[in-house]
Amino acid sequence: MNKIVTMGEILVEIMTTEVGQSFRQPGALAGPYPSGAPAIFIDQVAKLNQPCGIISSVGDDDFGALNMFRLSNDGVDISGISVNKKIATGTAFVTYQKNGSRDFIFNYTNSACAHFSLTPSAKLLLKNCTHFHVMGSSLFSFRIIDEMKKAIEIVKNNGGSISFDPNIRKEMLKIPEMRQALNFILEYTDIFLPSGADISMLTSSNKENEAIEEILDLGVREIAIKRGRNGGSFYNRSELISLPPFASDEVDPTGAGDCFGAAFVVCRLKGMSPEDSLRYANAAGALAVARKGPMEGTSTFSELDTFIERCAK
Ligand code: ATP
Ligand code: MG
Repeated sequence: MNKIVTMGEILVEIMTTEVGQSFRQPGALAGPYPSGAPAIFIDQVAKLNQPCGIISSVGDDDFGALNMFRLSNDGVDISGISVNKKIATGTAFVTYQKNGSRDFIFNYTNSACAHFSLTPSAKLLLKNCTHFHVMGSSLFSFRIIDEMKKAIEIVKNNGGSISFDPNIRKEMLKIPEMRQALNFILEYTDIFLPSGADISMLTSSNKENEAIEEILDLGVREIAIKRGRNGGSFYNRSELISLPPFASDEVDPTGAGDCFGAAFVVCRLKGMSPEDSLRYANAAGALAVARKGPMEGTSTFSELDTFIERCAK
């Protein structure tokens, strides 16, 4: 079966209820919400009715159960998620600043998802995988990078393709082995999905047009750039397409990039044109930001079509 598979962190997210509220004193919180960039990505893939699965690990606790229930209920194959009896599910606590930015307190590098590996069930999932998605945020240990490289090789040997969203903290790039690992992944990448300025994160030039050329020269087939409130762009050797964003009342920006990437990849794998795929990706991002909670704003094709039609009026 043609499955899209991803691998990486599964978390719960707990957030303040008011903009400007701080964690330096007690206050009302909302959540737990299912989260983790690869988990949001794969949930959006499943909502688009595409067979898919995730390789990860959660604790033997309610935070893990909440995530497994949501993913499975939305159609994600969760057979590649192992349950760790000794370590709890990862968490992220979020505050929202008045200037629109967010601050995260993450605890996932010491959580269950730091300990996933290619179990026999995970390998079985990869055997049926024709597209594998890598999230930069998941590459937080050398052990995980090694597992990721093995997964990429399995999928490439299946004749499959790879997408890569480099959403990685800039400090990580100062570690030479990390930069090497990202370059390794980029060389295998077919669809590259950076946000704005991250396009030049791994290139020698920091000018966008030169960075695009460098990445295409590596053999990357196509690039879709996420531009937040400014929509998105598509580049390959012969086309350059930029589409404006859909109007959206932004409530919570977390997860927009993951939904954008998922919609873009599913549409391209279905054989849709770059322009139609970018339009669906922009719509998925716009609907994601309109809902509080990182995975609450994932959409079906019918919801995306209704939204696109409504915006056209
Ligand atoms: P994150 O990593 O937090 O998920 P990101 O940087 O990867 O974010 P963004 O560029 O913020 O991703 O958002 C992805 C896409 O969602 C944008 O390219 C755009 O299409 C859509 N989008 C984001 N914010 C808005 C907004 N305020 N209004 C309309 N569309 C938006
Ligand atoms: Mg992102």
